[in-house]
Amino acid sequence: MDVTQNLQQIQTEMKAACQKSNRNFEEITIIGVTKYVTIERTREALQSGIINLGENRLEGFREKYQHFGNEAIWHFIGSLQTRKVKDIIDKIDYLHSLDRLSLAEEIEKRAQKPVKCFVQVNVSGEESKHGLKPDEVMSFINDIAHLTKISVVGLMTMAPNTDDKELLHNVFRELRILRDKVKESNLQHAPCEFLSMGMSNDYPIAIEEGATHVRIGSKLVGS
Ligand SMILES: *Cc1c(COP(=O)(O)O)cnc(C)c1O
Repeated sequence: MDVTQNLQQIQTEMKAACQKSNRNFEEITIIGVTKYVTIERTREALQSGIINLGENRLEGFREKYQHFGNEAIWHFIGSLQTRKVKDIIDKIDYLHSLDRLSLAEEIEKRAQKPVKCFVQVNVSGEESKHGLKPDEVMSFINDIAHLTKISVVGLMTMAPNTDDKELLHNVFRELRILRDKVKESNLQHAPCEFLSMGMSNDYPIAIEEGATHVRIGSKLVGS
């Protein structure tokens, strides 16, 4: 399937999820995750109208950025080693994996301008997953209030790889409730309007629970 066909199918399902949850389709951003695919396939994604691209590794990001630097809005969605911050921080538009103070402090030191960050939360509690525990999020956000280069625009999570729909609803709902709590705190450095959640297997459920940014790889650019 070409990317345009995949995108049409995804958008149809997104619209159905919006209708079900009484949401506005226009407020949801699709991030095309190109980590598995070639430059050619990435170009196809851009041509199909995807302008937000996500990469989870430095090498992949570099390669795609070299080709399409000016043509896309760049989301770094993988965990970021502190010592790699300086290499990418001024090239990306959004970081989805802010999960520790040392990383925030390195960004403060290296970034030329404020960076739009999602705080990554390990809602499911799986050991393999990065992110803060839900009950650590509020104090973490308070701890970075003095950093002038960090703007917490939202929260991000990765759900378990499962077909258990109820579990998925619960994970996404918990992140939304946490987002609401941060947002209602009215912190200047943490407007926290957004929810980055939902991937190829679970984006309709994430949208029903309030996702504003879905990160879709295999279903969009896979074969
Ligand atoms: C790979 C990846 C995705 C996309 O995964 P698919 O299942 O292929 O849609 C989304 N978010 C993160 C953080 C990823 O690493």
